[in-house]
Amino acid sequence: MTDPVSRLPSAGIDADALFARLDEARVRDADWRAGRIWSLVYHAGSEHTAFLHEVFRRYSSENGLSTQAFPSLGRFQAEVVAMLATLLGGDGRTAGAMTSGGTESILLAVKAYRDQARAAGNARPKMVVPASAHPAFMKAAQYFDVEAVVVPVADDFRADLPRTAEAIDERTVLLVASAPCFPYGTVDPIGALGELAAARGIGLHVDACVGAFILPFLRDLGHRVPAFDFGVPGVTSMSADLHKYGYALKGASAVLYRTADLRRHQFFVDTAWLGGLFGSPGLLGTRNGGIIAAAWAALMRLGEAGYRDLAQRTWTLAERLKAGIRAIPGLRLVGEPDMTVFAFTSDTHDIFDVAQRLADRGWHVDRQNAPRSIHLVVTPHHEAAAGRFLADLAAAVAVAGPTDAARAAESAALYGVTSHSRSGADPRAAVIAGLERSLDHA
Ligand SMILES: *Cc1c(COP(=O)(O)O)cnc(C)c1O
Repeated sequence: MTDPVSRLPSAGIDADALFARLDEARVRDADWRAGRIWSLVYHAGSEHTAFLHEVFRRYSSENGLSTQAFPSLGRFQAEVVAMLATLLGGDGRTAGAMTSGGTESILLAVKAYRDQARAAGNARPKMVVPASAHPAFMKAAQYFDVEAVVVPVADDFRADLPRTAEAIDERTVLLVASAPCFPYGTVDPIGALGELAAARGIGLHVDACVGAFILPFLRDLGHRVPAFDFGVPGVTSMSADLHKYGYALKGASAVLYRTADLRRHQFFVDTAWLGGLFGSPGLLGTRNGGIIAAAWAALMRLGEAGYRDLAQRTWTLAERLKAGIRAIPGLRLVGEPDMTVFAFTSDTHDIFDVAQRLADRGWHVDRQNAPRSIHLVVTPHHEAAAGRFLADLAAAVAVAGPTDAARAAESAALYGVTSHSRSGADPRAAVIAGLERSLDHA
């Protein structure tokens, strides 16, 4: 490796030399091409990716900040939102916006409910959030000063309906549900939550960031899919990532609202700026046109048939992996996952020891705390790697140490509440130190 860089090179470096350095820099990166990482990369084949890169290249200098200057980008975004609305049971009144990712979609939705509440005279709005919901809801709570009441999940790892109902008070403006939640791949009881929200006259946001491009197609294919979208009357908004199973380039998601009047509360307007009237629908200013165009092109290129095939392949592979995991003595799935993301744990073996042994064999798997488990996001790209993974997993379990019963019980009692260590170390300080290392490390 070359020495860390801390100032601009005095003269620019030759492109080929830089390409070599770029390739060298990634030697310790996860080998997603070989299907060795079970999260973070959603790949629908090299031909599809090459197509996206070509679309990106054509629009990479355009700026989504101004759809007046670039009406093409306005049109692509409106069409992406319209296609998603149709896919997710919306109608002619459904309104939305493209965003940079699931986090931004969620932040914007929470901000919209907050500002709608404020406009109605509720200065201190609250939302009820299942402990399994994505941390972006807690980020939104912090950033926008909305009180989040976190409710533990039920024994089936889905949002707990009675506890949710109990948590609602006169300040509550929003319930949150996931379709599915990321940790367990379970879909919350959205039909019942929708009834509850409608009866109490409050909103229900369904986070379908990871499910939006799988669940509708599994339903088409005849799989049992719980009601999860705008077809449920109480659902008032949804988030859907294009850059996950939508197989767009990273940096693309959408937020949808049942009606445009809720969306209006998402906007930011400054009429006093010396630079002129300023309006912005989302968090960002400048946005790469290439990402927007590529998201539109991904939907158009794959179409219903393409997504249905990808969903079927992914489902089949996930079923094969689940069966393979169940067949390994000592392993079991966490809950009953509805989709192609899921977690597995062990009552007999130290599952983090298993994870470490997988890492030693070149696999990148995410670890979860409640219960201690290994998490997998399955994509069609894992087809070639799945057999090897199951064999390595069986081998890892065979030599892994026994479960630490005390620790397992502790984490099981803490569903959704991250407990990192019994050593007394402050997990928050450890996370902050990790963030600083990741930002400052050269
Ligand atoms: C990925 C994900 C998010 C956050 O999306 P980002 O694009 O990473 O910001 C939110 N909710 C769920 C369920 C997700 O899977």
